[in-house]
Amino acid sequence: MKLFHHSSDIQVYIKELKQQGKTIGFVPTMGALHKGHVSLVHEAKNQCDIVVCSIFINPTQFNKKSDFVNYPIDIGNDTKMLENSGCDIVFIPKATEIYPDSETVASYSFPAIDSMMEGEHRPGHFTGVAQVVKRFFDIVTPNFAYFGLKDYQQYLVIKTLAEKEHIDTEIIGCPTIRETDGLAMSSRNRLLSEKERATASVIFQVMNRVKKSLLTTDLSLLKEQSFQALKEAGLEPEYFEIADADTLLPIVEVKEHKKVRAFVAANLGKARLIDNMELI
Ligand code: AMP
Repeated sequence: MKLFHHSSDIQVYIKELKQQGKTIGFVPTMGALHKGHVSLVHEAKNQCDIVVCSIFINPTQFNKKSDFVNYPIDIGNDTKMLENSGCDIVFIPKATEIYPDSETVASYSFPAIDSMMEGEHRPGHFTGVAQVVKRFFDIVTPNFAYFGLKDYQQYLVIKTLAEKEHIDTEIIGCPTIRETDGLAMSSRNRLLSEKERATASVIFQVMNRVKKSLLTTDLSLLKEQSFQALKEAGLEPEYFEIADADTLLPIVEVKEHKKVRAFVAANLGKARLIDNMELI
């Protein structure tokens, strides 16, 4: 596995690979890797000749300084995991490589899908995500890029970014990898105490309950009950939403929609956890 820190170096290397006819799969991450990230690398490896993984804690997507400062870092273990998972190139740039002083950072907005849920609760978050992803796409020029459906709204934002900016990269959504008790794997789970970690599985249980009762219970009641259940378990929920999977708009009548998902964000100790589940 080759390691790069500088954009100009990785650009030269990738250009040569592409001239040899190799396809490039890209997995952007913020590090503190787990099996969820590894599943994206495996998916990329199945489809592409070369897999590039980046590790970069992007400052522009954090709306709270404490969240940025507390974000877990474990580069030593990350590079070992990537090597073992078949990754070919790891790119670990400094912020000045991604945001050079000489360049103004573009601002992005996707009004139809970035204004609710994560967009509403983390102002500026998706602008930051779009900035960093666009920058990485310009450097890595991947044929395919892999994103987890665990961050479903982010996946839709990036698909929209690729369409609007005419980026020649196919965006692939990959299934959420979960712990045995159903908790979605996340770098932020490392911030949970043992007790909090045990509590966190309630998020999955609540979404499952919604899935079972979707056709028989009033939706606003279902959302209210879910929000309360999270609170009673000791979490501080920010939202619990049942929305159309394409538009992300809250749904009123299940019958009128083909694809429906539940979305949740909740704070627990030092961690802010998000998850979602396909309901129909
Ligand atoms: P992050 O390092 O949290 O920014 O995540 C990097 C990529 O890994 C994003 O595309 C995430 O959606 C994806 N990801 C994070 N957790 C999981 C998971 N449990 N299952 C699948 N993909 C994940």
